[in-house]
Amino acid sequence: EAKNESLSDPHYFDYYLVDKLLERVQIEKKLPRALAENEFELFYQPKIDLATHALTGLEALIRWNDPEHGRISPASFIPIAEDSGFIVELGEWVLWEACRTNKGWQDTGYPKLPVSVNVSAVQFRHPQFVRTVETVLEQTGLEPQYLELEVTESLLNDPVLIKDRLDSLKRRGISLSIDDFGTGYSSIYYLKELPLQVLKIDRTFVQNTPTSPRDNSLLQSIIQLGKSLGLTVLAEGVETKEQFDFLRQNDCDQIQGYYYSRPVDSATMGEMLRISMI
Ligand code: C2E
Ligand code: MG
Ligand code: MG
Ligand code: MG
Repeated sequence: EAKNESLSDPHYFDYYLVDKLLERVQIEKKLPRALAENEFELFYQPKIDLATHALTGLEALIRWNDPEHGRISPASFIPIAEDSGFIVELGEWVLWEACRTNKGWQDTGYPKLPVSVNVSAVQFRHPQFVRTVETVLEQTGLEPQYLELEVTESLLNDPVLIKDRLDSLKRRGISLSIDDFGTGYSSIYYLKELPLQVLKIDRTFVQNTPTSPRDNSLLQSIIQLGKSLGLTVLAEGVETKEQFDFLRQNDCDQIQGYYYSRPVDSATMGEMLRISMI
């Protein structure tokens, strides 16, 4: 078979790389057109309070409905958009769409909840970022306390620039979360000094609990660290009742995960909001 042959071919890995490169270039070229053609869509995943089981917020997660390949996961195009710089434009679209949709739900009479938007470091570092956020809030009429921004630890390594920017967002009433906590390299000093409100524990720290005693105590320590810093602690990727119970017993504040709900399209999310009032 061709695959086995290629393994003995000394150029196999070169071919593989060229192939990957072409794919990247193709995706990179397709992204701007995809935005113009309205091929992006936001899904929403609920955040749940562990004590009350109430909905506390929604996270917006982008999807690409490519006419050729179907629904494409953000993991395969966000990094490419970050490298090419297109993430600035795409991220701006996400902000508009999430704020407009959330305001629409509020105007319908559904419970007022914060929507969180993932922000790439490249986008966050852009000089116009704060201005863009302000414009989106002004134009959509969404009050700032109903927008949350999720940034990753890699951003915190640029503390001088970041502190001013986080401070000015915070002053405007926008809440800030640190996403995928534990997978990067954030210094505890910065976690303490920066105006953050929520620590989101990466799902890799949740997936082996409560069966692995080592993972259990690690997870407990991370929850306690977040609490000591005065942050709201949310665990990502909760898939089972056992994980849910373990987190509740160990003082975690909130969860997201398939156990409660997968990310759903905006119509389904609207329906969930409506039902949550009954
Ligand atoms: P994230 O922000 O950490 O989002 C959580 C990811 O975990 C989502 O993947 C979600 O669908 C998935 N997830 C939620 N619950 C579970 C669970 O119980 N089990 C498992 N196995 N997975 C779960 P998704 O939607 O594919 O997004 C992947 C990443 O892409 C996000 O990670 C985020 O870093 C990035 N991303 C998504 N939307 C945007 C966006 O609008 N802008 C930017 N810059 N990045 C985005
Ligand atoms: Mg996130
Ligand atoms: Mg995450
Ligand atoms: Mg992630």
